[in-house]
Amino acid sequence: MLHYTHSTLYLESVALSDIAKRTATPVYVYSAGLIRANYRAYDESFGPLPHDVCYAVKANSSLAILSLLAKMGSGFDIVSAGELFRVLKAGGDPSRVVFSGVGKTAGEVDYALAQGIHSFNCESEAELALIDAMSVRRGVKADFALRVNPDVDAATHPYISTGLRDHKFGIDIAEAPAVYERARRFSNLTAAGVSCHIGSQLLDTDPVMEAVDKVLRLAEELRAAGLAIRHVDFGGGLGVAYKAGDETPQIREFVAALKRKVEGRDLAVMVEPGRSIVGPAGVLLTRVLYRKKTGSKEFVVVDAAMNDLLRPSLYKAHHEIIPLRQSGHGTIVADVVGPVCETGDFLARDREVANVAPGDLLAVCTAGAYGFVLASNYNSRTRPPEALVDGADWRLIRARESYDDLVHGETV
Ligand SMILES: *Cc1c(COP(=O)(O)O)cnc(C)c1O
Repeated sequence: MLHYTHSTLYLESVALSDIAKRTATPVYVYSAGLIRANYRAYDESFGPLPHDVCYAVKANSSLAILSLLAKMGSGFDIVSAGELFRVLKAGGDPSRVVFSGVGKTAGEVDYALAQGIHSFNCESEAELALIDAMSVRRGVKADFALRVNPDVDAATHPYISTGLRDHKFGIDIAEAPAVYERARRFSNLTAAGVSCHIGSQLLDTDPVMEAVDKVLRLAEELRAAGLAIRHVDFGGGLGVAYKAGDETPQIREFVAALKRKVEGRDLAVMVEPGRSIVGPAGVLLTRVLYRKKTGSKEFVVVDAAMNDLLRPSLYKAHHEIIPLRQSGHGTIVADVVGPVCETGDFLARDREVANVAPGDLLAVCTAGAYGFVLASNYNSRTRPPEALVDGADWRLIRARESYDDLVHGETV
């Protein structure tokens, strides 16, 4: 979807420099076509197997993106009441929403019950008790799945180190049968499924498949014990290519493997992909402000900063940075840094980039997931606008913040 024609960088059929000139920089730009294609890759690969693709809202929660996915028939995975509010605003169907997360508040649970969401992915017995109490008060029933920690051998799979941290989330799969058993006492709760989510940016799907086997075994065991388990939810986590040439799992192959495991069991499957749907579909456009040398180090100072795209500073994440116009002036090795007053404010370090001049435009690639959602007003910088490309058309889906927006709700 991102390609050069006559040395000019296009997203779908729109020259990105056209957008940058109209909106100014920095600006996030997304490809509607690629988001749709990624969603379809999930949805279609399940074939006739009952399934629901619940897009993980936290990856990119802009209304136009949610609306685009809602129109495709997507469900949604939320981790806060605010995300549910966004889904509803965007025209999403509440009965296709699953509520995940380790720290749901009473207010959030009540809001979700009022909207009639599909189910809660629960992470503790205390949470089950809260949801039951709130359901009794409202006079409604609620379906739940326990988010289990399938204890897959992360040591042999270094890419799920986030899965290791997830140990504090979920319920140990060995303890899950007892928790489901005790949950029978909750009058207004129904055990409807089993869920897991073992981590993010997974480049090897073996650990997921291991988790799938364990979750399916648990589902059978619970059914044998008389619980009406109807669905299994395998979370999100599929990795994307941040570096040119990264080998990443293919959505269609991954789903085909899931399908083979679940087929014939009379279970519906749910997945909660975020990054793999929107990540590769977005770029952050930025303009070069200055070139600067200190000692032996070369810096390219650009107008996007850590407040716009936090991933490099937060995770030392790699994002390819490419010019909007290929100039043929060769390359330099430099740090690409923003205007924020932090040494940690960089988009790339010791990176071979185009030999740019002030005024030149750059695209920071694979910025569609965990990009704008992590943007802040640090240094009282206004958050960037967002644009959505669809074929040869594009439109602004979020205006650049104004100085008035910066102080909204404040008093002297
Ligand atoms: C973050 C998260 C996801 C989405 O993860 P991706 O890596 O973006 O696909 C799905 N489910 C849960 C419970 C999450 O916390």
